[in-house]
Amino acid sequence: MSGDILIRADQLSVGFQIGKGLFNKQILKAVDGVSVEIEKGSFFGLVGESGSGKTTLGRAFLKAVPITGGHARYDDGEVQYDLAELAGPQLKDYRKRAQLIFQDPYAALSPRMTVRDIIAEPLEVMGLTGSRAETDERVREIAARCRLNLEHLRRFPHAFSGGQRQRISIARALVSDPKFVVADESVAALDVSIQADVLNLLKELQRDLGLTFMFISHDLSVVAHTCDHVAVMYLGRLVETAPTRTLFHAPKHPYTKALFSAIPSLDPDDRGKAQKLEGEIPSPTNQPAGCKFHTRCPYAVDRCKAEEPVLEHADAQGHDVACHRWRELFGAD
Ligand code: SF4
Repeated sequence: MSGDILIRADQLSVGFQIGKGLFNKQILKAVDGVSVEIEKGSFFGLVGESGSGKTTLGRAFLKAVPITGGHARYDDGEVQYDLAELAGPQLKDYRKRAQLIFQDPYAALSPRMTVRDIIAEPLEVMGLTGSRAETDERVREIAARCRLNLEHLRRFPHAFSGGQRQRISIARALVSDPKFVVADESVAALDVSIQADVLNLLKELQRDLGLTFMFISHDLSVVAHTCDHVAVMYLGRLVETAPTRTLFHAPKHPYTKALFSAIPSLDPDDRGKAQKLEGEIPSPTNQPAGCKFHTRCPYAVDRCKAEEPVLEHADAQGHDVACHRWRELFGAD
């Protein structure tokens, strides 16, 4: 990474206590020892199967779930916060700087509120504007940026298509003028033709407003076309991270390879060559010893079952990988 870092996580963990009673307590480690840097002004992708911990990591960066281990440092040039310790007025300030765009534009918008009130609500809750006229001006400004007609502001969400509703969700997330936005599967519920439109809007907003995005997705083709840098998660750990081009052209972790080979190819010669990802991701409450991927990895050896690999530099351009065998298997890519 070469630019300024907006968020730097160091051995970040998020655990939840599950089970009741004195003898039945268990800790579910949804995120376990993640170290990662998110560059200012970047579109940072986070991928992995469902259950990999990517949504929880996004929530931890928004301070929406408690950080139970390690650190995450936020520095936008105006303020610096240790997210693990954040509370009181600083947490209130952070809420306007870090926002979430929800996955489901149908469930995220109250059917009883007008579009104007939906977009204005964060300003009113956080007390960011002094008068109704000021609030209206800000709502109109962000609505126009999100390509909503001003006449839409008087209507209710049911009058809109999925793409328009997602633009309302985006306007609501951006109305407080955040620096950091987590977009969690934000185009997954939309038709493919509408996805492109919303992704183009997000890229335009990122560029024009100088935003930093964390884009969480299970759809690798969307990530490939949108993100500058991608991190791959498996069972709460980061297993590989690299600039997008590097990751897609020369992945070095067997899990990343398997994820990529599952992308449908338009080339008939490629079909049938996919390396199938066998089995299910293990339960976070019952994790295998050693490399967490060894129960599904076709290259696993005895060492993999006993010793957990650490994330190490594969090159000096931000490509890191956590696998005992990446050099012998894929080092020459
Ligand atoms: Fe596979 Fe072993 Fe590498 Fe894990 S450490 S990904 S089990 S080869």
